[in-house]
Amino acid sequence: MDWFEETLHQGWRQAIRVERVLFREQTGHQDLVIFDSRDWGRVLALDGVVQTTTGDEFCYHEMLVHVPLLAHGAAREVLIIGGGDGGCLREVLRHAGVIRVTQVEIDPAVIELSRHWLPTLSDGAFDDPRARVVIADGARFAAETRERFAVAIIASTHPQGPGAVLFTAPFYQDVRRLLNPGGIMVSQCGNPAIRPDELVETQAAQAAAGFALVDYYLTVVPTYIGGAMALGFATDAPGRRAISVRELEARGVPAGLRYYTPEMHVAAFAHPRWIIERVGH
Ligand code: SAM
Repeated sequence: MDWFEETLHQGWRQAIRVERVLFREQTGHQDLVIFDSRDWGRVLALDGVVQTTTGDEFCYHEMLVHVPLLAHGAAREVLIIGGGDGGCLREVLRHAGVIRVTQVEIDPAVIELSRHWLPTLSDGAFDDPRARVVIADGARFAAETRERFAVAIIASTHPQGPGAVLFTAPFYQDVRRLLNPGGIMVSQCGNPAIRPDELVETQAAQAAAGFALVDYYLTVVPTYIGGAMALGFATDAPGRRAISVRELEARGVPAGLRYYTPEMHVAAFAHPRWIIERVGH
């Protein structure tokens, strides 16, 4: 394989120059490939879609994790659904106030292979005593668990294959139920430039789940092509949405970050007019 050609969008494709394919397997849940690329370091793709690269993963993981954790300010119990490469888990564990992180991943092969081939993603996080991994369908876990969490992070694949269920109103309803008062759910909502419907539909599904505030914020991850990526932000405590830079600083931003700053946090909730017109807010 000289080039990895992503098949996510029907009319627009990105191709990444492959230096060396390291691993390829049909896991039982999805087609998994890991390769070294010329420009983006090591790449993990599932079902033909780039999941993460060592070159730009921080642009995604830092924003998916630190925005809700700092918006909350006192999260102790955190839930991650998906996120098998461990990047989200690594970022959550940077917060000293977090005492337990439960990660529910459907495909154990993603965790095992990422630990082996992309060790910088989890960077030892799976061995942290605060981390607990549950191998299960995240939707099923959300429907059945009696545990409660301050923050739920939906770090899923795109709405196809096993990830499709993680974009539905019944699932969001179950997540809302497992949040403590004042809890926050964030979720991957796709690229609004290429797939605005995905953001429109997930915002509608999250509103239908009953959240008092449903909003989204933006991050730019070069290998998630097409401009900014939308991340859903839903809570029953609307005050969590507008926290000042000064307050975020006072809450204690973890050291060593490369994308997240309190200024980026606040700015990420500013939306271009064309997206506002499309989504309604
Ligand atoms: N690093 C990015 C992140 O953290 O969001 C990339 C996506 S991560 C690799 C997506 C994960 O979601 C995959 O490991 C996949 O197996 C998992 N997944 C997909 N459907 C799921 C489901 N129904 N329940 C739990 N995990 C699921």
